[in-house]
Amino acid sequence: MVDREKIKQAVRLFLEGIGEDPNREGLRETPDRIARMWEEFESMRSFDMKLFEEFGSYNEMVLVKDIRFYSFCEHHLLPFFGKVHIAYIPDGVICGLSKLVRAVRSFALRPQVQERLTEEIADFLERELKPQGVGVVIEAEHLCMSIRGAMSPGHLTVTSALRGVFLKDMRTREEFLKLVKS
Ligand SMILES: [Zn+2]
Repeated sequence: MVDREKIKQAVRLFLEGIGEDPNREGLRETPDRIARMWEEFESMRSFDMKLFEEFGSYNEMVLVKDIRFYSFCEHHLLPFFGKVHIAYIPDGVICGLSKLVRAVRSFALRPQVQERLTEEIADFLERELKPQGVGVVIEAEHLCMSIRGAMSPGHLTVTSALRGVFLKDMRTREEFLKLVKS
């Protein structure tokens, strides 16, 4: 549960810490705004597991490209954001696009690292869909890197997680990675 009072106190202290006056016009409501925003994130994270209940006989690769996401790097609490590409080869269970989008959002809207986000999405789909295999690729820009010029703005970090036949079968893996790049 999000503790609104704790967040407000922390933000007020943080603003003082960077030499700002938390009581000045533009900042007065900031602690409360941030607290309410994290409450909103918390409510956006929850979704019904029962969403994965569509059955089909389709047994070819399902690929969903360019699912936009926004997350927060847990080292700096600055956003990282970009696109998730998900593929799986079903074994009786398939799921719709909106369900994938919600699953991605539920793992993204919290302090995260891109590598773990990638793994968590893959593990989740493996667990819920029990497919023959899953592949997840994430391309993201990290503001903590872009702002400080450690990397050129717009620089993308790419991570991937492969499960099942995506790991064992080179042809499946190559087909997936080729489709992601195209
Ligand atoms: Zn960072």
